[in-house]
Amino acid sequence: TDVPGIELNSGATIPQLGFGVFQIEQSQTAETVAKALEIGYRHIDTAQMYGNEAEVGEAIRSSGIGRDELFVTTKCNNSNHGRLDSQKALDESLQKLGLDYVDLYLIHWPLPGKDLYVDTWRGFEEAVKDGKTKSIGVSNFQDHHLERLFSETETVPAVNQIELHPHMQQLAMRSFDERHGIATEAWSPIGQGKGVIDEPAIEGIAKKHDKTGAQVTLRWHIQLGNIVFPKSVTPSRIQENFDIFDFELNDEEMSAIGELERAERIGPDPDQFD
Ligand code: NAD
Repeated sequence: TDVPGIELNSGATIPQLGFGVFQIEQSQTAETVAKALEIGYRHIDTAQMYGNEAEVGEAIRSSGIGRDELFVTTKCNNSNHGRLDSQKALDESLQKLGLDYVDLYLIHWPLPGKDLYVDTWRGFEEAVKDGKTKSIGVSNFQDHHLERLFSETETVPAVNQIELHPHMQQLAMRSFDERHGIATEAWSPIGQGKGVIDEPAIEGIAKKHDKTGAQVTLRWHIQLGNIVFPKSVTPSRIQENFDIFDFELNDEEMSAIGELERAERIGPDPDQFD
């Protein structure tokens, strides 16, 4: 299967489907990522916060896959905001991952109460100049956080990684991102496996296509243009989540899923989270 690529405003291309490693135990990470790479995933989404960068690096090294065939994202931890601290933290991430550069470095949360994200972004711009990351982006940013980056810095983020699934469809943020040339990445794309994928509407569509609720939900994201990286430690599900390029949802099915919107978050509201 060929995973489509999405071109970012930095000029880099990101595989639209990747593998997320949030909440994968350190002791399970290397074997799980190795499995994902074996299945064909070439995009890994980790973070300093997840505590498993070293194990992701271990899997990458032993896979023998060429560095330029892989897309690796990590995220600056909330404790590392600031122009210099964010760069020092990236150095540590690179050391743990065993890489010379990452493909994408994200500000994990805006933390408006700290009010350091603009300064952090200036550090990110320097990290690109130093060759430590190819692209830079943000996560959990609302329009007003992005507006500040537009007016106070030089670089428009390549991506905005936000909570996005059929119960939290982020229509306004998606169109804001699109208007500004920012690609939207959907975190918890299958709603962490509960609630969303067993919605009767989704199950009904799944049955028609001889697919699962998880596959239909991921396919919905792909057709909307979202970048996704579902997480699983179960080999059969890692495979299942990859097998979403041999069927298509029609307009009626896409809008039936659209009707499941509830503006219901799993995670915190970025403006209330410090
Ligand atoms: P997800 O929506 O990917 O759901 C993962 C869970 O769903 C698994 O733990 C498992 O219980 C279940 N599951 C997986 N595949 C399944 C299948 N085929 N059938 C049935 N159940 C299945 O949730 P997530 O891990 O929270 O999000 C994915 C990735 O997004 C993370 O690993 C991480 O990389 C990223 N993320 C980022 C942020 C952020 O603040 N930037 C927050 C959360 C997650």
